[in-house]
Amino acid sequence: MVEFCKKCGNLMVVEKIKKKSYLICKRCGTKEPLKGKMSIKEVKPGVKKEIIVLKKEEGIAQLPKTKMMCPKCENMEAYWWMQQTRSADEPPTIFYKCTKCGYSWRSYG
Ligand SMILES: [Zn+2]
Ligand SMILES: [Zn+2]
Repeated sequence: MVEFCKKCGNLMVVEKIKKKSYLICKRCGTKEPLKGKMSIKEVKPGVKKEIIVLKKEEGIAQLPKTKMMCPKCENMEAYWWMQQTRSADEPPTIFYKCTKCGYSWRSYG
């Protein structure tokens, strides 16, 4: 990340003062607190994908939706979640639940 001083145009350097990061101009001494830019880069969205494990019917409203045809009413939208079945050696089963009629079914991949 490169930032230039607003006053004199010199290259700013990042320095930590009392656990806070500042941009400092070594020429004219301008100091401004470092805004969120750096920390945003460190957090990569989409890297952590949480596997949703549903135990009860509750919480269905928070489930992600996907385009999937309901085998019962042919509605094209369904909630989905993963559930570990039987042993941990087997891949988790994906479950779907129709947003329209509430019918649920599973997919084996
Ligand atoms: Zn400056
Ligand atoms: Zn349906």
